[in-house]
Amino acid sequence: MNGRIGSDVEHAAALLRSGEVVAIPTETVYGLAANTFDEGAVLNIFTIKERPSFDPLIVHIAERDHVMRVAKELPQGAQELMDAFWPGPLTLVLPKRPEVPDLVTSGLDSVAVRMPAHPMTAALLREVGVPLAAPSANPFGYISPTTAQHVADQLGTKVPYILDGGPCAVGVESTIVGWDPQQRRWVLYRPGGIPVERIEALIGSVGMSDPSKLHMAPGMLESHYAPHKPVHVGDVSALLKRYAGRSVGVISFSTEYEADRCEMLSVDRDLAEAARNLFAVLRELDASDCALIIAEQFPEEGLGRAINDRLRRASAR
Ligand code: AMP
Ligand code: MG
Repeated sequence: MNGRIGSDVEHAAALLRSGEVVAIPTETVYGLAANTFDEGAVLNIFTIKERPSFDPLIVHIAERDHVMRVAKELPQGAQELMDAFWPGPLTLVLPKRPEVPDLVTSGLDSVAVRMPAHPMTAALLREVGVPLAAPSANPFGYISPTTAQHVADQLGTKVPYILDGGPCAVGVESTIVGWDPQQRRWVLYRPGGIPVERIEALIGSVGMSDPSKLHMAPGMLESHYAPHKPVHVGDVSALLKRYAGRSVGVISFSTEYEADRCEMLSVDRDLAEAARNLFAVLRELDASDCALIIAEQFPEEGLGRAINDRLRRASAR
């Protein structure tokens, strides 16, 4: 029954309880989940994804107060962030409890936690009764999946069950912020589904993470979220001139460009809708006849920051 897709939450829970890995829907992207406290199961996630062990996982919980099952303490502001944005696409990096296996956190003394909003996965988390460690359900470095079929296309033979919760409502990964004990403030590790502006409106200005202080956290890897085809980001008209004669797929807010394929992320120039469509469009163009992908730079505000961040990493080689 390899790669079976279905909506049987109890079956998924039984598999997880017996140490298996299951693909799960969340509002951000599909995840590849295992019992956080079962090291053998967590190791399987890394094997299936071919993910390097220096890349820590996010722990998913059913209720706000389950945070203390994996975190040692809540720094100032954490409760406000949880109250405002959970369940939802915000991940908090907190001091970790020793019970959390090093494999989950790549040996860091912090743990990344979030409470997902997807109703099916919320039900699954309650049914399993343990926090689930899960990265995105794609081969390491490739575009994250936003439908069950995306997962099946790439990992279908490697996971026993894919829980199908429909297309992801947010479509880009969670925003990650962490408490920096030295600076005594919150820093941004990755822009994502919750706009940084909303976080700053609640807890004040958020610092930028210093990549040299972490070991690689791939939200921070330069090349990530990448299709196989080359991606170029910038002034679309100028890039189309530079690559004249090549078969090009364009990703933008407009259909005015002369290209083999023009993918408009949102008719209304709505950044949330654009984020929701981004990864599916990247996958489509990657599978198309186009030789390369050209994308515009989106407004650097709200979800536009996450879109630009993913496109920039998709273009890095
Ligand atoms: P993914 O679920 O594939 O988007 O990957 C989870 C991401 O969360 C990692 O790639 C890191 O960027 C980030 N992350 C997880 N744990 C930590 C941590 N303890 N400190 C900083 N970043 C983390
Ligand atoms: Mg990922």
